[in-house]
Amino acid sequence: MTTSSESEWARAVKVIDGASQVCLACHVRPDADALGSMLAMLHALGTRPGGAPSVVASFGDEPFEIPAILRFLPGLELLTPPDGYPAQPEVMLSFDAGSIDRLGALTWPAEAAGELIVLDHHASNAGFGTINLVDPAAAATAVLAAELVDRLGIPLTEQIALGLYAGLVTDTGSFKFSATTPAVHELAARLLATGIDPGVVSRELYDRAPFSYLGLLAAALGRARLEPEAARGLGLIWTTVTRGDRAKAGLGLDAAESVIDEIRRTDEAEVAVVLKEDDAGTWQVSMRSKSLVDVGAICSSLGGGGHARAAGFSFAGSAGGASAADDAITAIRRLLDGR
Ligand code: 5GP
Ligand code: MN
Repeated sequence: MTTSSESEWARAVKVIDGASQVCLACHVRPDADALGSMLAMLHALGTRPGGAPSVVASFGDEPFEIPAILRFLPGLELLTPPDGYPAQPEVMLSFDAGSIDRLGALTWPAEAAGELIVLDHHASNAGFGTINLVDPAAAATAVLAAELVDRLGIPLTEQIALGLYAGLVTDTGSFKFSATTPAVHELAARLLATGIDPGVVSRELYDRAPFSYLGLLAAALGRARLEPEAARGLGLIWTTVTRGDRAKAGLGLDAAESVIDEIRRTDEAEVAVVLKEDDAGTWQVSMRSKSLVDVGAICSSLGGGGHARAAGFSFAGSAGGASAADDAITAIRRLLDGR
């Protein structure tokens, strides 16, 4: 159950039931929770008893590229690039976006939509929809998507379950984080009961990479810096993944996602940061903390957002290149020290 009121859930069901077309969207550079939840709903609405509404699903990245590690999810061929998305959807559903600008090129359709139903679990979400199914206590947006599927009376299929399970695994850190409640395991059990293979999901998400990834990882680990005095003595570890690292490895930005999971285990640091340079030279910054520092608040004040223990922001800076990364880490250091 969620903290969203019964009346919000009832309105969401009524609006979807009465729609002739439903448009789905998730945040840019989607992770498995965003894309998996959206694809699950795409499959769910397509199997509705009593006639399905037409469904459009997309995310606002231009160029429109599916992150390589998510290419095992079923239904990708059903996605529509943003330039084919209705400019004024009758009913639009947003997945895992904490604020409307996280929809990228789909921000404008979201602003113009007749009804905008927001499914999300970011504490910073101010409720940018006309109907808000937002629960900061939910381990993943997939939990809320599963509840909506249930409330629409749609039985779980393998295709629906796979996207939801991928989202649940990702946002609970493979059922390791504190948000992993008994209810999370109960949902996981229901999803697995459809017949999906958890081994496939974990192998695709975590246990595979091309050989060239080892070179990228070695470069990033080799320049990792530990600052034990930072964050008022709680410690900071940080590193970068440059365009050059990725060019050498022939890898996209999403291949650098797992670097943060390597460095954040460092005992001497409460906070871990990875700055990843995208193809345009902008730094995509990932922050994690263990138990004390609210990195969501820090990223929010730097124009991004996220959760207390996992958050991010983008930083272009005026300097560009390595000195923009230095500027970003300087800004982070200052905020960690409460200055
Ligand atoms: P990651 O570091 O895995 O990319 O992101 C961790 C979390 O931070 C995500 O779940 C998302 O909530 C948030 N996040 C990452 N980048 C951004 C950003 O640029 N803007 C906002 N608002 N949130 C972000
Ligand atoms: Mn999420």
